[in-house]
Amino acid sequence: MTSALRGKHLIAGEWVGSETRFSSEPSTGPAREFSAGTPELVDRAAKAAEEAFWSYGYTGRAKRAAFLRAIADEIETRADTITEIGTEETGLPAARLNGERGRTTGQLRLFADHIEKGDYLDRRHDEAMPERKPAPRPDLQMVQRPIGPVAVFGASNFPLAFSTAGGDTAAALAAGCPVVVKGHSAHPGTSEIVADAIDAARRRCDLAPGVFSLIQGGNRDVGTALVQHPCIQAVGFTGSLRGGRALFDLCASRPEPIPFFGELGSVNPMFLLPAAVAARGSDIGKGWAASLAMGAGQFCTNPGIAFVIDGKGADDFIAAAGEALAQTPPQTMLTDGIASAYREGRERVRKGSGVRELLETSCSGRSATPYLYETDAESWFENHALAEEVFGPLGLVVRLQSEDQMRRIATSLKGQLTCTIHMDGADSGLARSLMPVLERKAGRVLANGFPTGVEVVDSMVHGGPYPASTNFGHTSVGTLSIRRFLRPVCYQDVPEDLLPADLAGRD
Ligand code: NAP
Repeated sequence: MTSALRGKHLIAGEWVGSETRFSSEPSTGPAREFSAGTPELVDRAAKAAEEAFWSYGYTGRAKRAAFLRAIADEIETRADTITEIGTEETGLPAARLNGERGRTTGQLRLFADHIEKGDYLDRRHDEAMPERKPAPRPDLQMVQRPIGPVAVFGASNFPLAFSTAGGDTAAALAAGCPVVVKGHSAHPGTSEIVADAIDAARRRCDLAPGVFSLIQGGNRDVGTALVQHPCIQAVGFTGSLRGGRALFDLCASRPEPIPFFGELGSVNPMFLLPAAVAARGSDIGKGWAASLAMGAGQFCTNPGIAFVIDGKGADDFIAAAGEALAQTPPQTMLTDGIASAYREGRERVRKGSGVRELLETSCSGRSATPYLYETDAESWFENHALAEEVFGPLGLVVRLQSEDQMRRIATSLKGQLTCTIHMDGADSGLARSLMPVLERKAGRVLANGFPTGVEVVDSMVHGGPYPASTNFGHTSVGTLSIRRFLRPVCYQDVPEDLLPADLAGRD
């Protein structure tokens, strides 16, 4: 065990071991032993979170903002260890992890600024009208309040920005909700160091121990016990459609159902309109290949499918994408499971009737090389498996014969995180007819760009109709994501000294 690692869970300020242990499966470096999570530890952490809510849920915004900034500082203090352990566990290059750490600390500080401004509270006041006839109107005030303890599932593909102190945790803590994280078993060491940073910040800010806990994985019972625990009031999740759906169903079947904010799967379709393809098919092909292969294609916004109308430039687009993908060196995938799911997905696409393989590559172990396939509209409509996400650098081009086919395909798609159109001025008629369809399908619609690289800002929406997310009124990236962990409460004729500080102007 690296001296920096304890191999334990952090339960309400205490490092706790458990009898059963699991071995990490790092990409490089030695395998390490970690205590496996148990339902008993879930119970301890969830009850401590509920107890902490009675103080943390009533802290002032300035105190919570200081806590978020302290977490960012403590993460930076541990930067070198996080990168060292993180690269060993995930196989991600140091530069990527350093960038992701910057995004993680940036979003913690962004939430600190956001809650200090206070707009998110959406305060409303309808003053009393005692003289109103036939009945007087009472005084009504509304404000957003934190919902209580939140469970967060760390994501495998973002060991920092969507894990222990990632977007879900930052949003929940900013809202005033204690957090219990179920660490992803692909990067337990990274999770432990980040948990240590959060705990150091909690101590510095003199907050209740139950404000944050980390339970390591290694046991499926942990996730099921966590989402079913009566103290947990909402869940933030990024992962597979299968796992997310199982946990979503558990949340819905609780005696007291709770919201499950799952970000599951998306193929992020690109629609290539004729004038744009004729003018710059080759450039679009190169750009697509770069976006598709980035990070071994392990991004939820990976643009896996391109729809192109046959005609001038379509061949250039495919040739340029194929050439760029053929030159992409093999990359290491995050886990053995993700690598084997990638190969299974490739077989599913390859065996589809009417599908042609355009690149002759192969990969084994955790190593991934890009694949490129082509099919036509008829085969697409006949073979539903083609519309399913393949998590990795696999591209599918669907060659269409008409604008009408493009509109029909857009209408048939399931919910997506993103939809992209590549267009020129002469494409505006087709683009205008696609827009109302695409905005019903996706959380984010792009023109002339690529969806990988999600900005963490006020106007970002990272969500979309099912299966992109389980709760399409929300986003899991950007400041609006705080709304998932708030609920509006109306106070009718409540004396000022009983109102929450945020309403009474005391904060
Ligand atoms: P996953 O298998 O869905 O696991 C995510 C988390 O949920 C893990 O903590 C896992 O626990 C837990 N979990 C999953 N199913 C569960 C169940 N039935 N009961 C209790 N807990 C459960 O996702 P993953 O391991 O990150 O990657 C697997 C696949 O998910 C990938 O191949 C890819 O297809 C997809 N994926 C998609 C995205 C996206 O952004 N859309 C991101 C990452 C992965 P354990 O640690 O015990 O497994």
